[in-house]
Amino acid sequence: MRLLADLHTHTVASGHGYSTVTEVAAAAAAKGLELIAITDHGPAVPGGAHLWYFWNMKVIPSVLGGVRILKGCEANPCLDTENGIDLPDEMLSMLDFVAVGLHPACGFDEVDRVKNTEALLRVVENPLVDMITHPGNEDEFPVDLDAIVSAAVRNDVILELNNYSFDPRSGRHSSFEREREFAEAARDAGATIAVNSDAHFHLLVGEVSNALAVAEEIGFPEERIVNRDAASVLAFLGAKRERPRIDAGGVW
Ligand SMILES: [Zn+2]
Ligand SMILES: [Zn+2]
Repeated sequence: MRLLADLHTHTVASGHGYSTVTEVAAAAAAKGLELIAITDHGPAVPGGAHLWYFWNMKVIPSVLGGVRILKGCEANPCLDTENGIDLPDEMLSMLDFVAVGLHPACGFDEVDRVKNTEALLRVVENPLVDMITHPGNEDEFPVDLDAIVSAAVRNDVILELNNYSFDPRSGRHSSFEREREFAEAARDAGATIAVNSDAHFHLLVGEVSNALAVAEEIGFPEERIVNRDAASVLAFLGAKRERPRIDAGGVW
């Protein structure tokens, strides 16, 4: 199986990414991808993008080098904001794609499963949220797997099988087994997953071989891997909620 969309990529705007939107899009085009989401880190991550960065993503064309570009974010659960996320709902509703995940130095470093689960459940229940990134980061951010998977199914939220979690460079060393457990639970519960690169450098865009091997090993149903191609991504997002910008052909 070959996946033609990558819903998790970073640029220099993330503070620890090393490529531009143009470079990521060109690399995606060179690899034959149909669609990518630009998902830079939200403001809670040290060095993460400012609110204005997300607001102004409207200047980026919706198609670059033949690749459909979704203007998105990888936001963070946050304890001291109205919606429990480090970007307000007004901003999330302007984006084409909203991913959220737990990261270091964002208020969840105590390795507290109950606290993490509560915060992430609140995120999953926000109708503006589309995907939870790397949920299997067990050492750093343990969560209640069953609670998160069933909430994801109830709320039509994608669970990510993150390729970089299987890369020894990631630092998510305990994730290897836990990401697989999440994928198995997602398979059994009827959840939708995305198999993404989490590329922080443009040459890594679309690089999902380790995670895809896991999906294939556990027999994850292909029709529930949302990022098969551009059409499967856009169909899922359109069915989840109204996307005025996508519905208008992505021009906004
Ligand atoms: Zn992340
Ligand atoms: Zn990321």
